[in-house]
Amino acid sequence: ELTTPEPISEAELVFEGALRPKSLDEFVGQAKVRGQLQLLLQAAGIQGRTADHILLAGPPGLGKTTLAMIVAHESDKPLRMSSGPAIQHAGDLAAVLSSLVPGEVLFIDEIHRMARSAEEMLYLAMEDFRIDIMVGKGAGATSVPLDLAPFTLVGATTRSGMLPNPLRDRFGFTAHLEFYDESELEQVLFRAARMLNFDIDRAGLAEIAGRCRGTPRIANRLLRRVRDYVLVHGGAADLSAVKAALTLYDVDELGLDRLDRAVMEIMLTRFGGGPVGLNTLAVSVGEEAETIESVVEPFLVRIGLITRTPRGRVATPQAFAHFGAPNPQGSFL
Ligand code: ADP
Repeated sequence: ELTTPEPISEAELVFEGALRPKSLDEFVGQAKVRGQLQLLLQAAGIQGRTADHILLAGPPGLGKTTLAMIVAHESDKPLRMSSGPAIQHAGDLAAVLSSLVPGEVLFIDEIHRMARSAEEMLYLAMEDFRIDIMVGKGAGATSVPLDLAPFTLVGATTRSGMLPNPLRDRFGFTAHLEFYDESELEQVLFRAARMLNFDIDRAGLAEIAGRCRGTPRIANRLLRRVRDYVLVHGGAADLSAVKAALTLYDVDELGLDRLDRAVMEIMLTRFGGGPVGLNTLAVSVGEEAETIESVVEPFLVRIGLITRTPRGRVATPQAFAHFGAPNPQGSFL
């Protein structure tokens, strides 16, 4: 499934690594967030201290990992990468924290999935660069304080709403990443095409930009498939080659993925366009409500296929038109 916003293979991760912008200047779009980060890093630099902790929130594939790497690069410090699911015990976190070097940037992806006990350890670590380690068991257990090297935590989450308040409050800055518009995606693609030595025309790039779900990760992935297509079929990498390649891979004009389409189809056919509650929708497509809310819904809202109302999610007239479904409300309009 080419339009899923998550990475799909080991090879893709390697490929992503090569295409990642290294500095804030190279990072396309998210102008506001870039400006805010720049200021934060510069101020820390002037005072010779570590930058405040940073929380990056937003759907997958929009550049959270890339920004964490840029924070380390711009502050000229090493980067340690970890993730919420890898931290299942406070001890896992203690091991990471106690081995940080001064100024190190610690990136914790999917931070909302970290174990509760580790979360509590992280509060103290973020605030005072200190943790308490429990030694011994039962009545004889004592806690021994351990000083840490000052560090900058960069947390990433697809669900900032799921973070407990005490954790959220300890970040000095929270950036909400938005889907990219088409001209920004064209820039991402132009840069990637150049790095891949792939000679594709502007119209072709624009077509990919319109079909990649507002997501740089998907844009780069589609670009690679188009490159394969041209390699095999010959001819120029132009609009018609892009259209043929994307048709072959079932990427529709809006770039919706399988889950997006399943959600829309259920809303339009089974629920006559809604309103439908989030949980009902999730059960109907066999996905977790969390995924629907944080990955599927933001994009469908952004492109105007659904709206959120107090009574649930509602399909818009554009949705009925795009999927060619009869609109039960249509006859009253
Ligand atoms: P996330 O961590 O949010 O899932 P990543 O940082 O891993 O997303 O980005 C996925 C891919 O998209 C990377 O290969 C990166 O090169 C590319 N990318 C993301 N944001 C940008 C951007 N603003 N400019 C250029 N490339 C980007």
